[in-house]
Amino acid sequence: MTYDVMVIGGGIVGMSIAYHLVRAGVKTLLFDRADPGRATAAGAGIVTAETNGHAPDFWLDFAAEAVAYYPELVAGLQAAGAGETGYAICGQLVVAVSEDERQPFAQAWQWMRQQQRRRGSPAPDDLVEISPAEAGTLFPPLAAVRRALYYRQAARVDGRLLTQAMRQVALSRGLVIENQSVEKLVMEAGAVRGVVAAQTIYAATAVVIAGGAWSGQMASQLGLALPVKPVRGQIIHVELPGAATGNWPLVTAFHGHYLVPWPDGRVVMGATVEPEAGFLAQATVVGVQEVLREGLRAAPGLREAEMREIRVGLRPTCTEDGLPVLGRVPGWGNVFVATGHGPYGLHLGPYSGRLIAAWLLGEQTEPAEHAFRVGRFERG
Ligand SMILES: Cc1cc2nc3c(=O)[nH]c(=O)nc-3n(C[C@H](O)[C@H](O)[C@H](O)COP(=O)(O)OP(=O)(O)OC[C@H]3O[C@@H](n4cnc5c(N)ncnc54)[C@H](O)[C@@H]3O)c2cc1C
Repeated sequence: MTYDVMVIGGGIVGMSIAYHLVRAGVKTLLFDRADPGRATAAGAGIVTAETNGHAPDFWLDFAAEAVAYYPELVAGLQAAGAGETGYAICGQLVVAVSEDERQPFAQAWQWMRQQQRRRGSPAPDDLVEISPAEAGTLFPPLAAVRRALYYRQAARVDGRLLTQAMRQVALSRGLVIENQSVEKLVMEAGAVRGVVAAQTIYAATAVVIAGGAWSGQMASQLGLALPVKPVRGQIIHVELPGAATGNWPLVTAFHGHYLVPWPDGRVVMGATVEPEAGFLAQATVVGVQEVLREGLRAAPGLREAEMREIRVGLRPTCTEDGLPVLGRVPGWGNVFVATGHGPYGLHLGPYSGRLIAAWLLGEQTEPAEHAFRVGRFERG
């Protein structure tokens, strides 16, 4: 039996590709070995483009398209009878907690206003500076902050639940899943004909490498040195039993950390950024200390929260430019790569998956020179 498409990797990116393919009637096989450190299982779930104070215009435009796609995706999953995804517009506070954050806050606010003028969005009332007291009312555990912005349209999603929902619907539409490791690509006459997993050859007309931080192992077999490496993140779930956290906004500050509340009294405190940890997907004493220190700096009211869980994930990150790697592999007409989403894969991944599926199906043509193309790493 020959599959139309084989997807290597069942995180949010691979599952989105498979979901969009089977919806179009494509005979698809997905392999996933669920490595410890799979990023999708650890991600905090922030889905917002407008408050990212340093991204280039093309990234912001792509990220905004990905944000805009979320309601359609979630509605489609709900209509197909999938379970909860945790997706909701929850709002976001961007705060300067201490004196050293005043300047980065002012720069970020200026950048946001520039982007707002350039893009004609968000609406003026959706992105406003509010008083520290108002911020404290929106997020009661908050510190006495110096300054605060409130972006009403920021959203969050539960990466595990969303991936599970896409999986459930895709399975009902004929997706085949093998919980195995793909060991090798099968190459013949300059094309990939399939893969080897558990000593069995599986034949396919096209292959997509969506293996997160592990994608380089597959790409190297094509002579492609993919500069995508793991960046470890440790993240902590705490709970305030009985607290009405459902309407609390997410909070970001300027030491690189954040808080993401969920309706069940949980608040997620994140996260470390550890490129030096390699593929070691375990929590460390110093990592946990950092996350708690920064979380409590922004929200001392979480001091008595109950510890629930520490999660660890490996963000697939492009070491050359930090951008996603999406598209056809040069010289290999039937092989695609979809990885490198770094700290933004829950936000961008579902939309990237839709794009890859559209390119595979020929519904859209991959632009020759787009910023995320695989061929940008070729030298000379
Ligand atoms: C602590 C933390 C917080 C984060 N917070 C956010 C956030 O708030 N917002 C946001 O947008 N993003 C966030 N991210 C980033 C996001 O989680 C990732 O970018 C995204 O999950 C990457 O998805 P992926 O499908 O590419 O990779 P993964 O989820 O890692 O999945 C890759 C899968 O491929 C499988 N695989 C690899 N090779 C093979 C093979 N040869 N055979 C079979 N299977 C294979 C692996 O086992 C794995 O299951 C966060 C990440 C971390 C770690």
